[in-house]
Amino acid sequence: MAETAMSLNAGAAPVVENLAAVRARITAACAETGRRAESVCLVAVSKTIAIEAIMPALGAGQRAFGENRVQELIAKWPPLRERFPDLELHLIGALQTNKVREALAHADCLHSLDRPKLAEAIAAERDRVQRCPKLFIQVNTGEEPQKAGIGPRETDAFIDDCRKRLGLPIVGLMCIPPHDDEPAPHFALLREMARRHGLAALSMGMTADFEIAIGFGATHVRVGSAIFGARG
Ligand SMILES: *Cc1c(COP(=O)(O)O)cnc(C)c1O
Repeated sequence: MAETAMSLNAGAAPVVENLAAVRARITAACAETGRRAESVCLVAVSKTIAIEAIMPALGAGQRAFGENRVQELIAKWPPLRERFPDLELHLIGALQTNKVREALAHADCLHSLDRPKLAEAIAAERDRVQRCPKLFIQVNTGEEPQKAGIGPRETDAFIDDCRKRLGLPIVGLMCIPPHDDEPAPHFALLREMARRHGLAALSMGMTADFEIAIGFGATHVRVGSAIFGARG
């Protein structure tokens, strides 16, 4: 597999090797807490990465990819979906309400449901097209004013509103811990909130902290630079 992928692009080797290394680290982190490696979905974050650099990851069997902008998702992925019908596309960045239509048409998962107005817009479009990606509610666990997400104190009510009144397919919670904090307490808080609501999925952990997140029950880790290298 790796050789097939490498023949697609001379610069492919690092991506294939990086991907294998990340997968091995996920397996090891799972083993440490008695989890099965299949209980963690690796979302390869391909934002700003060109298709030529993504191809080797596809060649190596990676199927879940994350983009933070709808426009980039639409520009890069629809043609690849024809070749790889089992692709799983995750939208992980802030979504403007005027992009909801495109998001619902192209994303399989949205990790960044972060405000009531967006929930309303998604529900309205879902009613129209009878289709909706799986949704994660983004929680601003660090209560950072500049960061997106529902405040921890508003999260319980927001989850209930999304599920009961709007009937949205909420599968779990997502967070991005503050840059300068220990991530562990944020992961623990997110896990506790999800548990209270019987939500099975936890999107947490990036290149710097995905093993810690797995220790706290992450089901989706969003890893970019460890796979594709530092973004320019
Ligand atoms: C870019 C991004 C990631 C991946 O970050 P890395 O540190 O490169 O692994 C994960 N989650 C979100 C929301 C992102 O925007």
